[in-house]
Amino acid sequence: MAERYFIGKVQWSTLLGGWMEKYQILAPQKHEGGLFLEPVSMENLSTIVYDAARAVQPLKAFLFPALEEVTGEKAEPEKPWLFLGIKACGLSALPILDQAYGGEFADPHYQKRRQESLIVSSDCSQPWETCFCTLIGGKPYPSEGFDLNLSKVWDGFIVEAGSARGKALLEGHDEVLKEVVKEEAEALDKMRKETVSKIEKQNKEYRLPADLQKLMAGSWESDVWKVHSETCVECGACNHACPTCHCYFLDDVTRKEFVKLRGWDACQYSGYAVTAGGGTPRPHLYERFRNRYFCKIKYLFENYNRLGCTGCGRCIEGCQGRIDMRAALNDLTK
Ligand code: SF4
Ligand code: SF4
Ligand code: SF4
Repeated sequence: MAERYFIGKVQWSTLLGGWMEKYQILAPQKHEGGLFLEPVSMENLSTIVYDAARAVQPLKAFLFPALEEVTGEKAEPEKPWLFLGIKACGLSALPILDQAYGGEFADPHYQKRRQESLIVSSDCSQPWETCFCTLIGGKPYPSEGFDLNLSKVWDGFIVEAGSARGKALLEGHDEVLKEVVKEEAEALDKMRKETVSKIEKQNKEYRLPADLQKLMAGSWESDVWKVHSETCVECGACNHACPTCHCYFLDDVTRKEFVKLRGWDACQYSGYAVTAGGGTPRPHLYERFRNRYFCKIKYLFENYNRLGCTGCGRCIEGCQGRIDMRAALNDLTK
């Protein structure tokens, strides 16, 4: 059994207040349009939203910013980040980024931020209507990849340590960490089951097979790509919002001195993958649209042994063409 305790909300806030000295804490705050990861201070400590669902920004927005200089001295944050309220669909994206930016040619910028950061995840209880984690093999509560996880129960949280760094955060706070009693454990199980039911209910019109690789293998020539990409305006929001998309471009800029910039690229753009001679392997929009689905479901799975889609629904929420990935995948099964 993992190490877990019950902690009251007030006592948890006191712990957070203490950690602020050492960490830059970022947590979900509610604004028009959704939840946004924002710096935490004593002024907004009480308005952190722990249990709803994912924030608008994926974690990559911090670990691998949309645009950054990769030459010269870098202005890194003064304190390491402590990300609070990260959801299961955010955690399951990280092994993709870790592998893409790790290994033999590891990216030092990503690695530094990733290794210094702490992640305190939390269970979801109010999924967005675009959430479909359960449809794609996930759960709305984290089971791995966190330093600490919080599950809101009554007037406090069940806090679970998932790493040595997470355990270290709790050390010395025995006076506020209580044994989880049977009723609290039962309340947590009930809440988790209810959340799974909510997500299943809102996705009941979609049926995806367990073997998505097989589904993709027979779908290259499907009409689905042309039909579902008809309203695509090539804005790239689906790529940029996605927690696992990690393609980038490099641009050399000459100002007073040479600067190299790195920015998020998007495989939906017509310029993506264009060669120096002007050729492209995917001249048609439906081919680029198909590529994104194949990348998520097939190529990333083959390369990194995990799906490149976590069911977070950001690509649905942000799509200017009102294209729904669930519907497109579902149509492939017909
Ligand atoms: S997709 Fe699942 S894990 Fe992600 S925010 Fe929605 S309910 Fe939570
Ligand atoms: S493809 Fe869409 S639903 Fe899947 S992880 Fe990316 S943004 Fe989320
Ligand atoms: S978000 Fe929608 S409209 Fe924009 S590129 Fe992606 S599929 Fe096309």
